[in-house]
Amino acid sequence: MRAIQITQTGGAEVLVPRELPTPTPGPGEALVQIEACGVNFIDIYLREGRYASPLPFIPGQEAAGVVLALGPDAASVKVGDRVAWCGVPGTYAQFAVAPVARLIAVPDGITTRQAAAAMLQGMTAHYLSHSTYAIQNGDAVLIHAGAGGVGLLLIQMAKRQGARVFATVSTDEKAALARAAGADETIIYTREDFAARVREFTGGAGVPVVYDSVGKTTFDGSIACLHPRGILVLYGASSGAVPPFDLIQLSTRGSLYVTRPTLKDYTATREELERRAGDVLRWVADGRLKLRLEHSYPLADAAQAHRDLEGRKTTGKALLIP
Ligand code: NDP
Repeated sequence: MRAIQITQTGGAEVLVPRELPTPTPGPGEALVQIEACGVNFIDIYLREGRYASPLPFIPGQEAAGVVLALGPDAASVKVGDRVAWCGVPGTYAQFAVAPVARLIAVPDGITTRQAAAAMLQGMTAHYLSHSTYAIQNGDAVLIHAGAGGVGLLLIQMAKRQGARVFATVSTDEKAALARAAGADETIIYTREDFAARVREFTGGAGVPVVYDSVGKTTFDGSIACLHPRGILVLYGASSGAVPPFDLIQLSTRGSLYVTRPTLKDYTATREELERRAGDVLRWVADGRLKLRLEHSYPLADAAQAHRDLEGRKTTGKALLIP
């Protein structure tokens, strides 16, 4: 099969197309012919070696396609089913094996491309807005990187929960996308002091929650946006890791909270996975959640997809098509 394989960590150039053996499903696993594969920021962290993975490896951990074969004890899906999944490594390929316990049936009315685009970023937006901090009607919330993959979905969910949404973005074009997704106010954080703007918008009060996926360059400002007992949800590090932080600041700046959540812990059981994926795919199918699918690349162009994602050129979802 055609696949991307990383034999050494590094820049986008380590994403090399190769011919590799098609994997065989083991107990509890399905072999899936991949029709679309999601590109996510975590793929960059693993490619760079910021997150460790034994070498060599096939990157990618989100895809959708059609079940081709089953291993023993995998009766919960059938050959021919359309399925989607995330959190299982090895999806930058024509075929992949995945545990059937992590597969979600793709409902009628949505394409496998839409399903591949919605799983990881959609369930992330879901747990951030419904569980890590359950947004209440009338809350003011700040969402960084509002035109990104997670950002556009999180804005839509926050609006549906009744929030007043402030979103940061780097360009006017991205600001327009964030507003189209529902953001009430946008801040171009590459040229404006976003913490000062949030104070202005809230009459000096600050917000109860900041969703920060940018990390190094935004962390201090995000803390400065919170009102007493507010929570900083640090869920990514697109600009780099946050340096060590003196916890006493949480006290002096108003009994604040910081959490560093990850999707794995919010989809740990089959019940929770099905509930979040079910909501997200249903909302895509009935039009309540709009996906932005402007960036599709042939599998062999995975390196370009990474350059675009880390170069802040993409908006919404980036997909690889085997
Ligand atoms: P995005 O589409 O949001 O792309 C990243 C965006 O971050 C860029 O478009 C850019 O938007 C912004 N950004 C700010 N500074 C930088 C920088 N120095 N370099 C690159 N980008 C920068 O990516 P994803 O939606 O795939 O992921 C968003 C974040 O969410 C990532 O940090 C990822 O790790 C995290 N994540 C965390 C999960 C979890 O469970 N913890 C699950 C899924 C994603 P702009 O140009 O507007 O600044």
